[in-house]
Parts: sequence; structure tokens; C-alpha cells
Amino acid sequence: SNAPVAKLKLAIQKSGRLHDDSMRLLKECGIDISNGVNKLKSEASNFPLEVFFLRDDDIPQYVEDAVADIGFVGENVVYEKKKKVDVTEKLGFGKCRLSIAVPKGEDYGSAASLQGKRIATSYPVLVQDFLDQQGVKAEIHEISGSVEIAPGIGLASAICDLVSSGSTLFMNGLQEVETILQSQAVLIRNSNLKPEQQAILDKLLFRIQSVKKARN
Ligand code: ATP
Ligand code: ZN
Repeated sequence: SNAPVAKLKLAIQKSGRLHDDSMRLLKECGIDISNGVNKLKSEASNFPLEVFFLRDDDIPQYVEDAVADIGFVGENVVYEKKKKVDVTEKLGFGKCRLSIAVPKGEDYGSAASLQGKRIATSYPVLVQDFLDQQGVKAEIHEISGSVEIAPGIGLASAICDLVSSGSTLFMNGLQEVETILQSQAVLIRNSNLKPEQQAILDKLLFRIQSVKKARN
């Protein structure tokens, strides 16, 4: 027949902290992707997969809209964006935590210490959820980057940002006082995949699970 061959469209980060590990995972799954510099998309030569290289923040929206069928993206981005996608599999890389930090030496007993303060963050939704859970009222100041410098320039008295080693906080004279989310890269899926696309995803998931087992 002339029916098009089913293919799965995967969105991964174009460049940044998740890019190399995303490419490595595909490679270890036995999937060959030529990663041309500055290419928007690429097709696997030996698996029914097309890879789109995108800004990580946009991946949940693209998967919700079925522009991509699946994506590799940090849980922090998935939960901040609140898009309707299924979180299908933890991928074991991109591990970090979303934490609140205040200037070193400052007294911090509990979240109540944040009452009335101004918190700088790129994650306003997750911070507001945390404050609501704690019954604390504080002002959230959304900034898109360099959050850790906000207290030093008098923009905020606390921050909420991604942390892995904690060295960035330390260098900026901040101490971590609350972890509001543990995060790693996950595979997200459009919630209305066609059966033939789900069948390809099942094959991919089987390979991903084998790679994860072999790594442990
Ligand atoms: P852009 O969107 O402009 O490409 P970004 O800051 O969102 O930049 P990265 O810094 O590459 O992109 O981070 C991508 C993801 O990597 C984060 O959303 C998070 O899931 C993960 N990550 C792991 N460790 C860290 C860390 N120490 N700091 C920031 N992100 C981390
Ligand atoms: Zn981003």
C-alpha cells in the first residue's frame, strides 16, 4: 500500500546540559543519528525515529501539541509548564534539585522565614505551589537567568534555582535552605499517540530500560 511508514518524532535539547546525554542515550540504544551542527532535525538511519533539536523549555508544549510525539526534558521544566503530557520513563541523567537559598549566615528556621520576602526565580509556578503548601505569603520575582546574583544586587532576599553541586550558590554567598523538587531528565509522551506510534515507543522504551540496567 501507499500508507506512509510510521515514524516517531522525538524532541531533545538543541544545546545545553541535556544535549550530550540525550544523544548518548540514543547511541547506547543502538540508534544512529547524524548530529549535523545547527540542524533542526535529523532522521535515524536504523530506527523509525526523527529527532528535533529544540530549546528545552519549549519541549513540553511541542509534545502536548503533537508537533513531537515524545521528548527528553527535565522534570523541573515539565512540572513548571503544567502541560498535558504523560511522564513515561525516568532517564537517569540531568539530575539536579530545585532549591531555595538565602544569604549565608542568615537565620532560617522554616519556610515561615520567607513570609513577606521577595524570591527571585525562573520557576514561579513551582515556587508558588511550594509557598501555598507551606501557607506562606511571599512575592515572587520572575527572572530568566543569573538568578543567583539577585540577592547580591538587592533585587531579592531569597532565590529559588536549580542546584547540582551547590558551588554556584557558595560562590555567590548563598546557603541552600529548602529543596522543593528533585529532578532528572524524563521521557514525556503525547497523551493521544496512535497505536503504531505507541508500538515504536514500546520498542524504544525496551531499549532504554536495557541501557539503564546495564549502567547500574
Ligand atoms: P536554555 O533554555 O537557554 O537552553 P537552560 O538554562 O534552560 O538554557 P540548561 O542549563 O542546559 O538549559 O539546563 C537544562 C536542564 O538541565 C535543566 O532544566 C535541568 O533539568 C538540567 N540540569 C541538571 N543540572 C543542572 C544544574 N546544575 N543547573 C541547571 N540545570 C541543570
Ligand atoms: Zn531552558
